[in-house]
Amino acid sequence: MDIILLGPPGAGKGTQAQRLEQRHGMRQLSTGDMLRGAVRAGTPVGIKAKAVMDRGELVSDEIVSELIDAELTAMGDDVGAIFDGYPRTAAQASALDEILARHGRSLDHVIELVVDEDALVERITGRFTCANCGAGYHDSFKQPAKPGVCDECGATEFKRRPDDNEETVRTRMVEYRAKTAPILPIYEERGIVSRVDGMQAIDEVTGNIDAVLA
Ligand code: AMP
Repeated sequence: MDIILLGPPGAGKGTQAQRLEQRHGMRQLSTGDMLRGAVRAGTPVGIKAKAVMDRGELVSDEIVSELIDAELTAMGDDVGAIFDGYPRTAAQASALDEILARHGRSLDHVIELVVDEDALVERITGRFTCANCGAGYHDSFKQPAKPGVCDECGATEFKRRPDDNEETVRTRMVEYRAKTAPILPIYEERGIVSRVDGMQAIDEVTGNIDAVLA
């Protein structure tokens, strides 16, 4: 099964994708994670993408579609894909159709996480992760049980994404509204869109997504 998680930045796509990986043995394909990896590694793609990402704008369609194609080739056909943060434009949506067809795959569900945009800035600007294992935390909603120590692995270093500041978040929202939200009708016409209330507690969102996939 191949699915897209769609929703504005901070809607919870990454959190839910990680849970789907654990529960259903699917694979999260996050173009944001791939690009951050490329930035860290200092590859030509990373060097090109960094300034664009820091501004909250979109990296070129060709770059992200090539990353997705390469990941699908590497992961094999028997594992379901969770597209997280891709596609983000109409051009990426048609590239994905073409890539999936080439891999003998097709989309089963597009799940839109519906959220109150006013709450997103607080959600995003407060989030941080363990620098060692990547476990997610939040200044207001989910501090580690023991201050400064990761619940999962005991590490004491944490990090924040450079684009999780208010100004960049606002640009990311504008990009979502202008370029990403308009691709929903493409999938609505195919009858594969389901909406899940992303303002619920994380477990409830997961339960609603499971119900769609069942
Ligand atoms: P994300 O982790 O999904 O919030 O993505 C972080 C940043 O990476 C975005 O603000 C964009 O600059 C870039 N990015 C991630 N995925 C895409 C995509 N599918 N198309 C264009 N840019 C992307």
